[in-house]
Amino acid sequence: MRQRQQQGLLRQRRVLDEPNAINFASNDYLGLSRHADMQHALSTATDLAIGASASPLVSGYLNVHQQLEQQLCHMTGYQQAMLFCSGFAANHCLLQTLSAAVDTVVADKLVHASVIDGIRASGVKLIRYRHNDVAHAQQCLQRAEGQTLLVTESVFSMDGDVAPLTQLSQLARAHGALLIVDDAHGFGVVGKNGLGASDWIEADALVVTFGKAMGCQGAAVLGSNTLIDYLQNFGRHYIYSTAPSPLLVEVAKTALSLIKNGAQRNRLLSNIEYFIRTADRHKLPRLSSTTAIQPILCQSQSVLKVASGLREKGLLVGAIRPPTVPSGSQRLRVTLSACHTHEQIAQLVTALSEELSIDG
Ligand code: PMP
Repeated sequence: MRQRQQQGLLRQRRVLDEPNAINFASNDYLGLSRHADMQHALSTATDLAIGASASPLVSGYLNVHQQLEQQLCHMTGYQQAMLFCSGFAANHCLLQTLSAAVDTVVADKLVHASVIDGIRASGVKLIRYRHNDVAHAQQCLQRAEGQTLLVTESVFSMDGDVAPLTQLSQLARAHGALLIVDDAHGFGVVGKNGLGASDWIEADALVVTFGKAMGCQGAAVLGSNTLIDYLQNFGRHYIYSTAPSPLLVEVAKTALSLIKNGAQRNRLLSNIEYFIRTADRHKLPRLSSTTAIQPILCQSQSVLKVASGLREKGLLVGAIRPPTVPSGSQRLRVTLSACHTHEQIAQLVTALSEELSIDG
């Protein structure tokens, strides 16, 4: 703690209490968290309990859970799904449980903390490949011994770039490895139909989270009947934790309909295109992302200062520092939503260029 404090890297939470601020720091990519259809689904689901009141294998697994699982399978083509209360729990459970059954795990250098913690909890041998580097992933797979898992995100949470999923899938097949994809920032956003990784490949296990594009809360692991049966028997987070809130699961079903409908995504895509065009015109030091996550690199001492300058102008942008990202790559993490207007985006870009040049 003291070391973090000395480095000026102590993390602090603060209550979000600026109702008029424009939020470019949330993962509500499709603007569903306050969508009228979602609120309607919530207010009309009067027959559903708020809490599941038990773990799924005792009495917490209800029709509504099964319906959402089936809808997810129908949309993505997977055989079975299993719900969790958060993406962190889903990733941790999946990785800890599967890693314990294999000999080696090969993972992208930038996979999420929940994935890393799950792998580490199993004690399996972990090999990391350079971010999105297929050739290096191949070398790592060649070095890997025995049954192996290959793990990636679809859209990386801090860089916003998309993994070479088709190549990774081919690589996994060629090496007899199982491919695991965390689709937290892809589902609802990228792909031809906005289905994230499922628009490109079928992984051996896919994690979809509900707290981002779906504007809700919770997550699902999707895979074969065998995989889900295995997790049901050995996945400690699943077995020993209360099932997700029936009410929220009902609302998540509406989120799936809104994703299928596509209107919100078209708005988001237009906003992404507009942000990129405007930011590039202003020569903002943008990472080359084409997704809703648009990181702007910033000097180490200044990222909090720039974020606070933006806040004074009524604009909320995430300031991301080590150890969340490698040192020297501190950044403002701009996230775009279907709910932003082009005027708001233009306002952000102007403010960013002002704050960054004031800073420089
Ligand atoms: N995976 C990735 C890539 C994430 O960014 C996050 C959330 N930060 C999670 C998993 C965890 O999801 P949840 O917030 O639902 O726990």
